[in-house]
Amino acid sequence: MQIIISSFCVLALLQAPKLTRGEDFGYDGVIGPTHWGERYRECAGKHQSPININVLRVKQVSLPDIAFVGFDDSIDGVHVSNNGHTVLIEVENEPHPRVRGGPLEGDYVFSQMHFHWGDNDTFGSEDKINHRSFPMELHMVFFKEEYNNVKEAVLHPDGLTVLAFFYELDRHQHPAYDDITSALLNVTEPHTTVVMNNPFSFLNILPYDLRRYFTYRGSLTTPPCSEVVIWLDFEQPIRLAHDQIEVFRELKSAHGKITHNFRPIQPIGDRVVFYNIDSNYFSYNEIEDPDDQTPATTKSSRRNHRRNSSFLNTPQGSILVLMLTVLGTLLIKNIYL
Ligand SMILES: [Zn+2]
Repeated sequence: MQIIISSFCVLALLQAPKLTRGEDFGYDGVIGPTHWGERYRECAGKHQSPININVLRVKQVSLPDIAFVGFDDSIDGVHVSNNGHTVLIEVENEPHPRVRGGPLEGDYVFSQMHFHWGDNDTFGSEDKINHRSFPMELHMVFFKEEYNNVKEAVLHPDGLTVLAFFYELDRHQHPAYDDITSALLNVTEPHTTVVMNNPFSFLNILPYDLRRYFTYRGSLTTPPCSEVVIWLDFEQPIRLAHDQIEVFRELKSAHGKITHNFRPIQPIGDRVVFYNIDSNYFSYNEIEDPDDQTPATTKSSRRNHRRNSSFLNTPQGSILVLMLTVLGTLLIKNIYL
């Protein structure tokens, strides 16, 4: 079975040839984040990631639409690996999905996606919003097409873009994540890989709203911490059940279970975080059925996520739900007590 090493891990090894694979950096003790800068100079840089995003300080913008090319494709032969730091999902067959538009100039080609999580559901994300942590975060890594590959791309300040998605808890399982969690059970040992049983679609694992996001210039969040990343942090979280997140915590590194693998927030310095609000947002949000405006090819896979943008998720909706719950409780008490 083919063992796949993350491109980041390869880069780290190039700079630390004396260390064996998987022991070059970690998240605790002498190989933890506070020591990364000693071995990897850029980890002590001024434009590092992750950061806390203070929504009162963001600059609101309306950027061109992002094209998510191939995100709705049904992809075969997807590899799921444990590289000793995280879970990597990689696509073997060409063409790879790609993105363009938004703050990006040119096309960015998919390289890999991976996850960051914490010991329990109260923290685990890397970036924070108003100092709020989320239990897990997904990073989809793309390299700029003109640089041909990740190794070359990290030599340029606009070399990579990472689409970041936060997770929050839901009472229900997210069915699109079943194939990922099943695969995870077979890669609990470090440096193991499996091929996913079923075809995989990017769009199925993402939130419904891909129009609202924060974007800023930052770095890789693992050594060598190269400051070459255009970050896009999508505002709407993906909703997963506790049990689904728990499966990630079963993965092992060379030192035992990977109970956490997030880097603490770094100073924002002189950087500006932009907040993209689609100029059509308000009319788009007032429409009863958002599928009416969705291209035909994405309708089926997006339908599962519609509850994320429903009225019940608005403050007014929450109040209505609360009132109905109280009313229901009173009625039940009157009937049964
Ligand atoms: Zn990451």
